This record gives sequence, C-alpha cells and structure tokens, in this order.
Amino acid sequence: MVARPSGNRHRVEGVGAVSTPSTEQLRLWDKQHVWHPFTQMQDWEREEPIIIVQGDGSWLIDSDGKRYLDGVASMWTNVHGHCRPELNEALKAQVDRLEHSTLLGLASEQSIILAHRLAEITPPGLDRFFYSDNGSTAMEVAVKMAFQFQVHQGRPERNRFITFRHAYHGDTLGAVSVGGIDIYHSTFRPLLFGSIQAPSPYCYRCEMGCSSPETCGMKCLAALETIMAEHAGSCAGLVIEPLVQGAGGMIVQPSGFLRGVRQLCDRYGLLMIADEVATGFGRTGRMFACDHEEVVPDIMALSKGIAAGYLPLAVTATTGKVYDAFLGDYAQLKTFFHGHTFSGNPLACAVALKSLDLFASDCLLEALQAKIALLEERLNIIAALPHVGNIRQCGLAAGIELVMDKSTRQPYPWEHKTGIRVCLDARDHGIFSRPLGNTIVIFPPLAISLEELKLLMDGLEQSIVAVTNT
Ligand code: PMP
Repeated sequence: MVARPSGNRHRVEGVGAVSTPSTEQLRLWDKQHVWHPFTQMQDWEREEPIIIVQGDGSWLIDSDGKRYLDGVASMWTNVHGHCRPELNEALKAQVDRLEHSTLLGLASEQSIILAHRLAEITPPGLDRFFYSDNGSTAMEVAVKMAFQFQVHQGRPERNRFITFRHAYHGDTLGAVSVGGIDIYHSTFRPLLFGSIQAPSPYCYRCEMGCSSPETCGMKCLAALETIMAEHAGSCAGLVIEPLVQGAGGMIVQPSGFLRGVRQLCDRYGLLMIADEVATGFGRTGRMFACDHEEVVPDIMALSKGIAAGYLPLAVTATTGKVYDAFLGDYAQLKTFFHGHTFSGNPLACAVALKSLDLFASDCLLEALQAKIALLEERLNIIAALPHVGNIRQCGLAAGIELVMDKSTRQPYPWEHKTGIRVCLDARDHGIFSRPLGNTIVIFPPLAISLEELKLLMDGLEQSIVAVTNT
C-alpha cells in the first residue's frame, strides 16, 4: 500500500494564481481529490495516471505532449473527432447567444430545432422528445414513462420490466434495476425494484446450451416468449440494447433477434424500450441500431453520441400513443412529474445540431462502411490468435474476448487482469483503450481514418500477443 498523500501536507498556497500546474502537481491533486468512476482507487493511487489536456481528431494528448489514439471514443461518445472546428464554432456562437435557460415553463430555440431534426431521423412514429442529460437519466425517464403509461391505461399492477442478463442501462437506481451485470449491480439489489431477466443472446456462452446461432433457431427468443407468457400481466415493458449489449462485453445479437423481440412485445402488450445510448448516432453503421431490422420501439433512449461527445445531453423519444396517454385536465395529475435542471441545454443542443449537419456534409455513414469492412478484416486475423476465444463486431464497435483456454472457452481468472494488462501494454503503442473484463473493446471515434484504424488494430494485436503469450 503506497503512502496516501495527505491533503494539507501538499497544499500549494495561492493556487489560483498558478497558471499551469506541472504533470506531477496534477497527479498529486488527482490522487488527493478525484474519485474516479468504475475504478479501484487503491490501484489508482499506485499508478501514474495519464492526464489528458488536449484533443486532436482521433487523438488525445497528455500533459507531457504524448499522443494516444482514442480507442474508446472517450467513453463511447466521440463521433467527429476531438476539437472539430465546426463543432467548436457552433458552441462558441451559441455561448454568446444563450448558455442555458430552463425547459420547465419555457421553451428554447435550440431544443426545439433539435427535436424537429430528430423527428426526421428517428424510426417513424417516434416524434416526441423528452430531454435530459445523460444515458442513465434517459433510461430513468424511459422506465418511469412506461410505468406511468400503464397506470394511465388502468393497469398499475404492470410495475416490473423484462430485461436481459448482461444488460447495462446506466448507474442510477432505476437504470440499475433493469440491468443484468452482477458485478456492477448485485450489491444494490436491496435498493432496486424487481425485474425479470431473460437469457442474453450471448452465443459464445449460450445459456440455452446451443452451439451456433445458425442452427439453434434462437432458443433464447423462445425462452423470452415463455417468460412473457408468464409475466406480461405484471410488466410495463421490456428493455433492450438493440443489436449489441455494450457494457456486458460487446455481445452482438443474432440477426433477427431484435425484430423477434418487437413481435413478442406486440403479442404480449408490452412497451418496447430501446436503449440506443451507445448504439445511436451511427455506431452500428446505420443512424440507429433499430434501423437495421426496421424496428420501431415505443420508447428510445439516446445520449452519448447525440452531442458528438462534446457535452452531456440525452433524449427519451416516444410515440404519440405514449405521449397522448399523459394528456388530461391539470387536476387529473396525469403530468409526467420528472425533469432535470439542465434538460435541453442550448449549448449541447447547438452542438448536436451541428453534429447532424456534419453527418450529412461528411457523408459519415457512407464513409463508415469501408472502416467497418477494415475492422472486420483485422478482427478475422486476430481471431486466429491462441487466446482469442471470440470476436464480436457490430458496425464500428467490437469486442475481442480473451480466454485462458480456447478449446474449452475457460475464461481468464479475474485476478489475472488480462484485459487491463493488454490495455496498459497498448499505451506503449500510443493507444488508449479500456477493457470490459477480459474483452478488449474497439470503439473509436466514427471519424477515425483508415490509417488510424490500422494503427489501432496493429497496436491492439501486438498487445494481445505480448500479454497472452506470457
Ligand atoms: N445505456 C447504455 C447502453 C450505455 O452503454 C450507457 C453508458 N455506457 C448508459 C446507458 C448510461 O449512460 P451514462 O453513463 O451517460 O449515464
């Protein structure tokens, strides 16, 4: 255990006057004062953290001037690269006009225009947008909205949700209640409302004992139907990350699964909530993951890429059917009593609008296809490595699951920290990446160039080889 730096001993007097603290000073203050998310701080205190001070396209630059390819798009948010001049200009122009005004009792220009633009690109029928400011709140809104919808339909007993194992929808308690990752969520079970978990379509480690999605006829979908048949009457809706369960390990669903889920929701009268927080805004190769299977959910949560990775912004989109259920006389108390201080922040909305312009002017979705193909090519090579158990790709997102024994699929023990070690090694190749357990994640800014993508894959491959061969 390293000596814990004490706050007062290292205090620098008149610190406000110090223009640029040194890297060492910043590291010290970080260890003294910043509690990092999803981080074992005991380990962190022993490390020399990289301190990012600048961004440039697909690159992050640290306080010593060292450049790192942003392999995880700054927590899966970055779309057009860091410090993109057009986005910077849009932000600067908006800040001189209006930095913030509330949506409680007032409307604001940028949030109106953005909602109008979103209605043009989201799946047909989703044309009402409830603003909030991060992925978890977008999901809180979704589950509360779905439940209150059922209340207004005279079905208050429908107070649970069907969810999937390995699902991740955020860290607030409602979002955790519909999550399914035990190491993150089990501690909080006593605080949560009940959900009914269906098997995850995790084909590499299929709960149903199937060996291939080509031949199994999607037994997990049949299992979901059994669950619905039993529990639909007590459930407000079903919650799903369409096409890929991100934080669960980039678990890609077999083709047709999402559409099958939509059909089951219709059959059993459940609202379908699609969490597109990670998949939305181009990540899967289409604007939204639901577009691949022409699925229109009843409620859709969007965040992360919506403001191109610049600012916190989220929306929960829904249909006229859901929206209309909340209309009524004031005294009927059908109001959706939920809201956040920074809902629809004009700065974030202005950047989001410019980001949509860039999708069009850069032909970003078209340009993505070559990157997706290159990623596939490189993943197929990596798949042959002796400790690579499974590769999973969905658009410009991928997971490489490392295993101790490829023939038995035996995972590496947690204590080996294999994923973490690969990512630490990758830093020597100028790559910043963050694993999900022993799954290496590839989730770069969508604007990454083909050359940069090659560098990313070269570096990760070398690090996987270096760490798994020892
Ligand atoms: N849903 C999904 C699918 C996510 O991947 C995440 C974040 N990784 C969230 C919700 C929560 O978003 P936030 O961290 O902005 O609260």
